[in-house]
Amino acid sequence: MVRPTDDFIARMTVWHLQLPVLSARDHGIGRVDQNIDIAVVELQTSGGYKGYGEASPWSVFTGSVEASLGALTRYAPPYVLGRKLSDRQAILRDVNHAVAHCTEAKAALETALLDVTGIALGVSVAELLGGAVRDRIPLSCSLADPDFDADIALVERLQADQVNIVKLKTGFANHRFDIMRLEELRKRFPHLQIRVDYNQGLTPFGAEEKLRDVAEFRPDFIEQPVPARHFDMMRRLREGLSVPLLADESVFSLADMHRAIDEEICDGVSIKIMKSGGLKAAQDIAALAEAKGLAAYGGDMFETGLAHLAGTHMVAATPNITLGCEFYQAKYYLKEDILSVPFPIEDGAVVVPKTAGLGIVPNLDKIAHYAVHSVSLES
Ligand code: MG
Repeated sequence: MVRPTDDFIARMTVWHLQLPVLSARDHGIGRVDQNIDIAVVELQTSGGYKGYGEASPWSVFTGSVEASLGALTRYAPPYVLGRKLSDRQAILRDVNHAVAHCTEAKAALETALLDVTGIALGVSVAELLGGAVRDRIPLSCSLADPDFDADIALVERLQADQVNIVKLKTGFANHRFDIMRLEELRKRFPHLQIRVDYNQGLTPFGAEEKLRDVAEFRPDFIEQPVPARHFDMMRRLREGLSVPLLADESVFSLADMHRAIDEEICDGVSIKIMKSGGLKAAQDIAALAEAKGLAAYGGDMFETGLAHLAGTHMVAATPNITLGCEFYQAKYYLKEDILSVPFPIEDGAVVVPKTAGLGIVPNLDKIAHYAVHSVSLES
């Protein structure tokens, strides 16, 4: 009997896209302005099924788009083309051996494999990942505009859309600016849930005092105040804090999570498929965190709705990711998204698609419009 997963991968197409954004955004580790660079991969099977995935690198955080494109067009194809859909795990293992790092490219590839397999079998990506445990995920939107008045206007728009969680990006200007923004947010929006993320923006010297000031505003948590490598300082800060401390840049991999637990550096962790190198690996990290009683959050990079969909299915199928998600860029940050219908957000939550694969396909005209380069390879 021939099964849909006996289909082999006949063609692989990779696009480099540059997508305009609505404003500059400042983070502790760097700025985004004008455009974001991403790679989109399309896999087509011998039976004509198609699946899509996105690599969303940020050069100061996970890596460069050039590295993602190199991984997807040069190092991965020999282990992808001609292989059966049922070989998904072996394909990902082989690509992992063929090229180091490039976690965003590996996430894109796994996303496309899950999407096309789900479509071939008529099940959602969340079902392939064990099944959804939630059908809505509370949405958090980040505030990182150097123009704070623009962020106030954004919060007003968010409130009108019933989005009630924000993450204030701090540590890119000065402490006074951070405290002023917290005061204003608490005053103007008393019921808003506030999280704080430094993106490594503080030096260890003097960080304790600054975090104590921030903790006075009772944020849900404070994320990654100091550079990723300062595990000892993360632990010290956590011990002295009255609010939970989250690790983001300190934890990319399962091994990092293991070390973070061993060294007791955090109360929770931001899980991102672009850091872990895929959806399954992200689930594993969340499960390890759960074993130690740590909470987890559905983070992302600068993404389109395509990568948001991958994150959405992963979060939906991962019981321990209980702190919501930040899949806001498609609706609130890009000038135009690349999906064929808007990324689904309703009443302040991301709605998990139930249809086959990722549930929404990209618009190929928009991909062509924003493409600066593309490569197509056949088996
Ligand atoms: Mg973060």
